[in-house]
Amino acid sequence: MIKRLIDRLRGKTPPPARRERIVIPRDQHPISRKDISSAALKTLYRLRERGHDAFLVGGCVRDLLLDMHPKDFDVATSATPEQVKQAFGGQCQLIGRRFRLAHVRYGREIIEVATFRAHHAQADSDQHAHTSHTGVILRDNVWGSIEEDAERRDFTVNALYYNIDDFSLWDMANGMEDIRKRQLRLIGDPETRYREDPVRMLRAIRFAAKLDFDIEASTAAPIRRLGGLLDHISSHRLFDESQKLLTSGHAERVLELLHHYDLFRHVFPEGASSEEGKRLLALTAESTDDRIEAGKSVNPAFFFAALLWQRMQEEHADLVTEGMPTMPALQQAGQRVISRQGERTAIPRFTAQTVRDIWEMQPRLEQPRPRQVEALLQQQRFRAAYDFLVLREEAGEETGGLGAWWTRYQDADPGLRAEMLRALEKGGGSGARPPRKRSPRKRRPASSPPA
Ligand code: ATP
Ligand code: MG
Repeated sequence: MIKRLIDRLRGKTPPPARRERIVIPRDQHPISRKDISSAALKTLYRLRERGHDAFLVGGCVRDLLLDMHPKDFDVATSATPEQVKQAFGGQCQLIGRRFRLAHVRYGREIIEVATFRAHHAQADSDQHAHTSHTGVILRDNVWGSIEEDAERRDFTVNALYYNIDDFSLWDMANGMEDIRKRQLRLIGDPETRYREDPVRMLRAIRFAAKLDFDIEASTAAPIRRLGGLLDHISSHRLFDESQKLLTSGHAERVLELLHHYDLFRHVFPEGASSEEGKRLLALTAESTDDRIEAGKSVNPAFFFAALLWQRMQEEHADLVTEGMPTMPALQQAGQRVISRQGERTAIPRFTAQTVRDIWEMQPRLEQPRPRQVEALLQQQRFRAAYDFLVLREEAGEETGGLGAWWTRYQDADPGLRAEMLRALEKGGGSGARPPRKRSPRKRRPASSPPA
């Protein structure tokens, strides 16, 4: 602390744009205890009983102020992890290396409790904070004050604290003003903050899409230039973050923003780049968002199947030109594209297998042998593969109208089904369509409806 002051007096560190803590009393903000999960409230009360400061912080406070339902409730406290452990005993587990955190369990609900932490650069030459030569934070278990805790957070709207002691709201970085302006503003110097943790660029996009906020100009300005920093992020972290982006319920907007800020190619180097490929991806995003809105589950594999489809097809066409039979070529093209993308966003084995299953079902659904139709319907991956075929068709791909055929077949009574199978046998296809060109790159324009 004193060293910091001396450094600042000597002009070594530029004085941070000092923000005064603004305390908003209970009767001047809308957050009410009835909107807070009882598990979170119990955690806050127990910490307070033990004489510690205890606040709700981060996304939950932000979301409550925006009248949205928080995904989870995070607690920040003056208690050290060991003191949290003492307060909650067997209910509490200490986790994490980079960030040491306490998880307090109430049945299926887990409340994450984090000790106030100082920003690594401000920690007085402390052994516990460590920055690599590229400026990335490796560990930062340096306990600090609530002011310091706020300063190391990403956006001003994520640095709002709800105090259980008197139910007041502590606005540590002028976040209320940004909530009102509906904008995301990084705390501190944007470029420095992105260099410390490039994933903040993706978080900016995720929150902008989810909250329907703007990214404030100086926070937005460096993103295009710094996108390459994402190339050095661990592929596991990038996979996690890509999952959050795609299951945010606003994937369509996320994709637009990723392209706008030129981050798409850094996260998804094997992602669709043609107009048609992008159209398939946008449609997939739209249907993902619809499913989330309807409370249905979403399969990450489905998204990757759409994301990588164009590159896989290109690679497939090349292998076929080289003389490889179509199915082995499809398998090999699939392996290659998935493994290249996996270098950037580590794709779990199970997800990769599902992506390949969806792809390998496509030719079988497009050219079903009448005697295999019932067996195809029973396949575990039928539903996903069929949904994928329908989206391809909607995106304007030449599929011989087979997506529509399968839709009709599933709704048909046994009589109609038999008739459809006879037509398939005779026509060698959906019965109504003209003979098909085999080239996977030849597709009909989006405007003409499927046969
Ligand atoms: P949501 O949970 O809705 O995705 P959130 O804001 O709660 O949003 P979390 O990832 O749960 O996001 O993080 C909780 C809080 O921790 C954030 O609000 C922010 O204050 C801080 N935080 C998380 N990740 C970072 C980061 N990379 N850099 C700085 N602060 C971060
Ligand atoms: Mg959260």
